[in-house]
Amino acid sequence: MEEVKGKQVVVVGMARSGIAAALFLRQRGARVVVSEARKAEPLRDEIGQLLEAGVAIETGGHYERSFLNADMIVLSPGVPANMPVLERARAEGIPVIGELELAARNLRGRIVAITGSNGKTTTTALTGHLLQALGCRVQVGGNIGTPLISLVDTSAPDTINVVEASSFQLETVSAFHCQVAVVLNLSQDHLDRHGDMARYAAAKARIFTNQTAADYAVLNAQDEWCRRFAETVPSRIRWFARQPEVPGEGACLDGGQLLWREAGRALPLMAEADIPLRGAHNTENVLAALAAVICIAGRVEAEALASAVRSFKAVEHRLEFVARIGGVDYYNDSKATNVDATIKALEAFPSGLWVVLGGKDKNSDYAPLAPLLRQRARGVLLIGAASEKIARQLEPLGVAPIRAGTLERAVTTAAERAGAGETVLLAPACASFDQFDNFEHRGRVFKELVAKLARGGAALPACNG
Ligand code: ADP
Repeated sequence: MEEVKGKQVVVVGMARSGIAAALFLRQRGARVVVSEARKAEPLRDEIGQLLEAGVAIETGGHYERSFLNADMIVLSPGVPANMPVLERARAEGIPVIGELELAARNLRGRIVAITGSNGKTTTTALTGHLLQALGCRVQVGGNIGTPLISLVDTSAPDTINVVEASSFQLETVSAFHCQVAVVLNLSQDHLDRHGDMARYAAAKARIFTNQTAADYAVLNAQDEWCRRFAETVPSRIRWFARQPEVPGEGACLDGGQLLWREAGRALPLMAEADIPLRGAHNTENVLAALAAVICIAGRVEAEALASAVRSFKAVEHRLEFVARIGGVDYYNDSKATNVDATIKALEAFPSGLWVVLGGKDKNSDYAPLAPLLRQRARGVLLIGAASEKIARQLEPLGVAPIRAGTLERAVTTAAERAGAGETVLLAPACASFDQFDNFEHRGRVFKELVAKLARGGAALPACNG
């Protein structure tokens, strides 16, 4: 447990994790300032809560004086670690750490950390669910909604902390040490922030920091970057793959059966058909979660694991079934905020799709969507700021999207045109911030629009395009 009593700490960013970190530090006697770039006005509730706890606040910018007077600076996950004011603080020898690192320094018990471009939340929630079913003392946190720092007080030496870690959070770790590090996949995402794939991969590889030969790395045998990581990780590798073999030991899929291969033996785990989540990508998530659980638990309890997988429900906004109206299914995959996630969503439905794409572009290339859209989509509806870019890239590839503009118009149009047996799928391949607060907001609006359709009301006329 790190001693922070009497220390001057600046917490950067007044979102969920930053607030939790500030309260944690204050409770342990640190003098805390929360520094927030946004103006105070929309943050009244958060500010009230912090002031009441004795935390000082600076809004509307970051004040260099506070940063340079600090004994330690703690970053919220969304804050770029390379802001000039942070560089100056580092040059003065002031430690700059993330909320994940602060939490890891203080947590009791062991850590299973899960990262990757897609599937983190699903795999993290599933891993927690499986460990619970095995009777382990488990807590789930990190990028998944509960800041890890808020789990410190409830952690004990026998706790297994299952942690969803984003590349942003991993970028700044130093003492963080997980006993099981899971890397699901690496695809083109967040290049707007990390610059290039090599730097993005380097941030993800920080998950192996401080691992030793007593720990495990759970890696995707079908992912090029994971195979590269395997050459340098210090820990024992357990693979997972949606194919009959893995390069060593681990979880795989042979003839519709999930298997655990170890010491030359293959133990049957469960049938793929019994996985209650749609899409091949979710089989990968299940394989990864099973491998992680087997590593941390140190045993293979096939029946208990299979029955726990069967009782797992899709996490909200991840290929979530919303409703069937007039024979048309509606799926909310608002969390598909990049092209790879959208490809996985499209692959989960063989035909008859009406796909809603668009939002805020993340410097992505949408051309890889074209073959699947040609094959499986009856219609593509574009929304938001990226509409023109997506249309420009898809049109020469034989996809003729409809420019719907808003989600409301896209849903109305799709609903009017889709026939029984077809599917309306929100899987936008973009961030949401041009038209929504976040992907959750976008997903909720989608579900409200579907609920409205179910009540028999279409608010807007459909598009003619
Ligand atoms: P993350 O937390 O990494 O964003 P989620 O579980 O929230 O992962 O899923 C994000 C999106 O990616 C969803 O749209 C989901 O359908 C898709 N997805 C989930 N698992 C995978 C995977 N293993 N590979 C590719 N896409 C995936």
